[in-house]
Amino acid sequence: MKDILDFTHESRPQRVVFRPGASTDATAGEAAGLGLRRLLVVCGSRGTATARAVADSLGPACVGLHDGARMHVPVEVADRAVEVARAAGADGVVAVGGGSSVGLGKALALRTGLPLIAVPSTYSGSEMTPVWGLTEGGAKRTGRDPVVLPRSVVYDPELTLSLPVPLSVTSGINAVAHAVEALYAPDTTPLIALMAQEGVRAMAAALPAVADDPESLEARGRALYGAWLCGSCLGATTMGLHHKLCHVLGGTFDLPHAETHTVVLPYALAYNAPAAPDAAAAVARALDTDDAAHALRDLANRLGAPRSLAELGLKEADLAVAAAQTVGQAYANPRAVTVDGVLAVLRAAYEGGAPEFPAD
Ligand code: NAD
Repeated sequence: MKDILDFTHESRPQRVVFRPGASTDATAGEAAGLGLRRLLVVCGSRGTATARAVADSLGPACVGLHDGARMHVPVEVADRAVEVARAAGADGVVAVGGGSSVGLGKALALRTGLPLIAVPSTYSGSEMTPVWGLTEGGAKRTGRDPVVLPRSVVYDPELTLSLPVPLSVTSGINAVAHAVEALYAPDTTPLIALMAQEGVRAMAAALPAVADDPESLEARGRALYGAWLCGSCLGATTMGLHHKLCHVLGGTFDLPHAETHTVVLPYALAYNAPAAPDAAAAVARALDTDDAAHALRDLANRLGAPRSLAELGLKEADLAVAAAQTVGQAYANPRAVTVDGVLAVLRAAYEGGAPEFPAD
C-alpha cells in the first residue's frame, strides 16, 4: 500500500446472496427481482443434477436446461448455446457450476446481452468478475466487459459439499492467487487490500477443515466466503506475472487450470516479494507466518496438492518456450519480468523445490 493514499475504486452493481440452500430457495427470487421470466439454465455435463434442481426451483420461469459447458469456453460451444438461448426465447441466463459453466454464461451474455445470474459450485471466483474468455483454434482470448458480470450471485455452500477434496484444495488456492496478485496490482485500493487479506485468511483456514471433513457445511461456507472475497479482488484489479504464467501454461501446454495455479503461486510470490514487500507482508499476516511463499507451499503440500509442474506433465524442454511466451507481452508486475527471471520461476516450479530467489 502506498504511503500517500492515491486510488480509484469502482463498486460494480451486483447482488450477492449467501446461505446454505440458496441455490434452490433464492435463485427464483433473484430472477424475479431482475424482471426475468424466461431463463435458460446452463451447466457442464457433470453438473446436470444440480442444475436440474435449480431449474426446477424456477418453475415456469425456466425455459430450458443446456448442459454444453466445457473448460475454457470453445467458441463452437458458445455458438451452440447462443442458438439454444435464441430458440428458447430466453430473457436471462442462470449459470450453475464451476468456472466453466459461469464462463459459458458470460459468453452468452457477451454475445446476446442477456443478463446473467451465477450459482457457483467451485471456488474459481469467475462469478465476481467482468472477465470473459473464449477459445478458438487452441488460443484463448479474454476481455473485460461489464455486460458479462453476473447481476446476481447465489452462493450455496451445500453445492460445494460434493466438490472432491483435491479439487477443493486446488480451486481454493487458485482463489488465493487472485487475492495475492490484487495486493500488488497497480490498481489495488485500500478496500481491495482488506478483502484480499480477509479472503486469504478465510480460505487458508477453511481448506484444512474441508480436507479434514468435506461434509462440514461450516468449513465449506468459510471456503466459499473466501472464494467470494478473492474473486472480487480478481474482478477489480489487473493481474500480474502469476496469472500470465498460468495462462501460458494452460493455453499452450494444456496444463490443468487450478492445479497449475496451486503449483506456481509460491514461486511467483517469492519472485515478486522483494519488489512488493507490503503485499508479501499482508499475505504473511493473513497466513499468520513470516514467509508467505513458504507457507503457501506448505499449505498445498500438507493438503496433498500437486507439488511441481513436472508432476502436471510439463516437459523440461517446455520451460524456455513458456518463459519466452510469458515475457512476450507487456503487463503490469511489481518486479521486472525478464527471461532469466521467469525461467528461474518456471524451473523452480517445475522441480517443486523451495520458493526462494535472490533479489535483483
Ligand atoms: P470447472 O468449472 O471446469 O470445474 C472443474 C470440474 O469440477 C468439472 O469437471 C466440474 O464438473 C466439476 N465440478 C464443479 N463443481 C462441482 C461440485 N460442486 N461437485 C463436484 N464436481 C464439481 O473448473 P473451475 O476451476 O471452477 O473453473 C475453471 C475455468 O474457469 C477455467 O476455464 C478458467 O479460465 C475460468 N475462470 C475464469 C475466471 C474469470 O474471471 N473469467 C476466473 C476464474 C476461473
